[in-house]
Amino acid sequence: MREINYIVVHCTGGSPNETIPQLIAGFRSNGWKNNGYHIVVDGSGARHNITPLEQIANGVQGHNAKSVHVSYMGGKIVKGKGVDTRTDAQKAQLLSILRELRAKFPKAKIVGHRDFSPDKNGNGVIESFEWIKVCPCFDANKEYEKI
Ligand SMILES: [Zn+2]
Repeated sequence: MREINYIVVHCTGGSPNETIPQLIAGFRSNGWKNNGYHIVVDGSGARHNITPLEQIANGVQGHNAKSVHVSYMGGKIVKGKGVDTRTDAQKAQLLSILRELRAKFPKAKIVGHRDFSPDKNGNGVIESFEWIKVCPCFDANKEYEKI
């Protein structure tokens, strides 16, 4: 297994009802060989393991080698601000996943995507500059500090 320093929480920024094949097609249409996340929580709260943890996912450019990426389907920008669209089922599933990852990687920090500086010279970044700043549309650092 890789060394993991960060467990990064994301939102897809798409519809909560997007299917996993649609989500993965989106990564491929960006020219990505890898998926953007390891684990995705869909709109119903169901968990989908889309990338083995041993492999690298393209969640945050420059920080992927030592990160595990978890995302919920949803999250959106209204008037420049991120809106947390998580349902109770998604919140519960995220908690369960993060507790499991915390047990597996006790030294890793749980952070939100927006807690990383945006990559200004990168290529293959799925989000816009603004989106990087708001993803996952809530303060993951604070919400999960006790996990
Ligand atoms: Zn993100």
